[in-house]
Amino acid sequence: MRYSGWKVFAEGLRGNTGWGRAWRDPAPKAAYDAVIIGGGGHGLSTAYYLAKNHGLGNIAVLEKGYLGGGNVGRNTTIVRANYFLPGNSEFYSHSLKLWEGLEKELNYNVMHSQRGLINLFHSDGQRDAFVRRGNAMLAQGDDAILLDRDGVRERLPYLDFEQTRFPIYGGLLHKRGGTARHDAVAWGYARGADRLGVDLIQNCEVTGIDIANGKVTGVQTTRGAIRAKKVAMVVAGRSGQVAAMAGLRLPIESHVLQAFVTEGLKPVIDHVVSFGMGHFYISQSDKGGLVFGGDLDFYASYAARGNLPMVEHVMEAGMTLMPMIGRARVLRSWGGIMDMSPDGSPIIDKAPVEGLFVNTGWNYGGFKAVPASGWCLAHLMATGAPHPVAARYRLDRFLTGRGIMDEEGTGSQHNLH
Ligand SMILES: Cc1cc2nc3c(=O)[nH]c(=O)nc-3n(C[C@H](O)[C@H](O)[C@H](O)COP(=O)(O)OP(=O)(O)OC[C@H]3O[C@@H](n4cnc5c(N)ncnc54)[C@H](O)[C@@H]3O)c2cc1C
Repeated sequence: MRYSGWKVFAEGLRGNTGWGRAWRDPAPKAAYDAVIIGGGGHGLSTAYYLAKNHGLGNIAVLEKGYLGGGNVGRNTTIVRANYFLPGNSEFYSHSLKLWEGLEKELNYNVMHSQRGLINLFHSDGQRDAFVRRGNAMLAQGDDAILLDRDGVRERLPYLDFEQTRFPIYGGLLHKRGGTARHDAVAWGYARGADRLGVDLIQNCEVTGIDIANGKVTGVQTTRGAIRAKKVAMVVAGRSGQVAAMAGLRLPIESHVLQAFVTEGLKPVIDHVVSFGMGHFYISQSDKGGLVFGGDLDFYASYAARGNLPMVEHVMEAGMTLMPMIGRARVLRSWGGIMDMSPDGSPIIDKAPVEGLFVNTGWNYGGFKAVPASGWCLAHLMATGAPHPVAARYRLDRFLTGRGIMDEEGTGSQHNLH
């Protein structure tokens, strides 16, 4: 079924009785050409592009819970292409271009809103760093505008400019940055993949990876054994555990990141804004809630819930930047398990077992990467060669030390990226 404005109108007239299921609920088959472990954004987009771009027909996505129940449905929804380092710069630029055509591509309203992202700076040194970043963005073909203090005040009059401990010197505006509805992205790719014949199998946990003579032969699951010539591990915060099933140790730590939403308010914040003197970023959802987040909880954990000290820290940062949010009531908060790599950049590569692929290390920023990550992993799985925009996302950079991409400049500490 094609979705359209006309279809919504027609269904409204007949009591919404004509909508079918968005995707099938198939039983797992005994064998597939390719199996993707993990039904998050990256797993679903990989399956979609394997079928769409490379014509593979016999694919399954195995998800231990429900589609979109992981980080793809838990993030603060920021989509941007404002990276500095070669490797990240071209990859996220490619991703943003895919975002810009995604709703048409998937025939699904993912509510992609390019409302503009403003990164604030609070010192001369920080301004210099943002000028460099802005130049790198322009050199990559993306957009960047340096705002002075008055330029920020004109757009974000509700910020505290005078009383604050950290006066605002200006901001870097990335006009094409914005937000998208997180779970709609998972649903859009799921529906698209299903329409191309991909089997999306929920409540199917992978419990083992079968290997014979150095080659992957399939997986063990809670719904039986499944044979496959190619298997991709696309499980975000669970990457270490799933890789261990193949006898591999990944350079990944799992850490909790929390997010918060206030009660619905009249429109107040029409950009995405990020504070430069603390880890705090905020936007307003279409329902009216202010959506914001901050740092990791700073210890490794598989618990998808956070702790109170970080709640306090995020609220403090928010109050420092925009005291008015102290009047809003926080309705909900939650956590997700982040796959933190030592340099803060991701891995899309072959694993050292033939037929096995690894996609991980998305840190705080994997939501905006969903389209390009699937595009590039599908390319690697189908052709055996890395896609040019993801060629630097090699696993062995942590073995050889060559090609490290420390975007934040914080060194090899997973929790600081
Ligand atoms: C609070 C928070 C805020 C964030 N904010 C942003 C942001 O603003 N912008 C941005 O770009 N990124 C953001 N991120 C990061 C982004 O959400 C993640 O990097 C990205 O979603 C991870 O990829 P994924 O969607 O494939 O992961 P997931 O949705 O977690 O998918 C992995 C899936 O694998 C499944 N799985 C695990 N083990 C198994 C197994 N053994 N068998 C079968 N299935 C298994 C899980 O159930 C899960 O559904 C944020 C994350 C959080 C938690």
